[in-house]
Amino acid sequence: MKGRFAPSPTGYIHLGNVWIALLSYISTRNQNGTYVVRMEDIDLQRSKRSLGEALLDDLEWLGFEWDEGPRVGGPEESYWQSERFILYDKVLNRLEEQGLIYPCFCNRARLQSIASAPHRGEVVHHYDGHCRDLDGFTVAQKKLEKSPSMRIKVTDSTMDFNDIYQGPQRFVLRQGIDDFVLRRGDGMYAYNLAVVLDDISMGVTEIIRGHDLLETTAQQMYLYSTLHAEPPCYGHAPLLIDNDGHRLSKRQKSITVKELRELGWSPERILGELAVLAGFIPKSDAPSISLESLLIYTAHTKALHCEHIVLEKSI
Ligand code: GLU
Ligand code: ZN
Repeated sequence: MKGRFAPSPTGYIHLGNVWIALLSYISTRNQNGTYVVRMEDIDLQRSKRSLGEALLDDLEWLGFEWDEGPRVGGPEESYWQSERFILYDKVLNRLEEQGLIYPCFCNRARLQSIASAPHRGEVVHHYDGHCRDLDGFTVAQKKLEKSPSMRIKVTDSTMDFNDIYQGPQRFVLRQGIDDFVLRRGDGMYAYNLAVVLDDISMGVTEIIRGHDLLETTAQQMYLYSTLHAEPPCYGHAPLLIDNDGHRLSKRQKSITVKELRELGWSPERILGELAVLAGFIPKSDAPSISLESLLIYTAHTKALHCEHIVLEKSI
């Protein structure tokens, strides 16, 4: 198997990131898998190379070792998304030739006016299929005035999968209404596109990430099916909550590894606090554990296996 950690270098690594890195690392190492680190610096406005390098420094300092990724290399030419645009273009061109994507010229005001609140088990509806069937002449005319975003033509589909942490999930995507963007009008590639193409290309078989990304799995599984690739196992991990309730989840966003290091915390102390909260090691006053020892403690953790994913797609 192959697991991965795919942070966006838009800030210093915080405890929430370390938590996800830790869970994916433990799961991969305990299955004797290959661990990949990939920098999701696709948003050129918000990502910084220097923050990416600082993030890698922090990961190394904490004791993480990856088999493929920045600094160690691997079969891919680059593990920075900003250096992988050729791949994204190639796939977009192919999808366009196959008539599976189309240009959308709608402006933000129009899109906002049609957005509806999500219902349980449904993805937020952003669209109404307005530009789905524009003829070639109209498209050429409109392109003179505005560079369009590219949307995928979704057919009615139900995605069922068993999430490692969240249990059985079902998401429904509807034709037209759920046609989602693969490249924005300003040329920026959508997260859903880049993440799926990279995970396919890198051969990732298990994705552990924060539960805030659970709903994006619907779009991503749809892309796997469009590209005739087998989707990975998914685990959307809960955020850490201390006995006091929400305080930690609020704080963990702002507490960076850099700050803790400057306050004199050791890697073992940071990992120890997280390991206690996760229930991996018993509670103590100043918990402290190395990543290596943590792997031994969690070797018996059986919760981290995944069941088969079923994709039903009705055309
Ligand atoms: N780059 C995303 C983030 O930092 C995670 C993407 C993923 O794990 O699929 O939030
Ligand atoms: Zn449109």
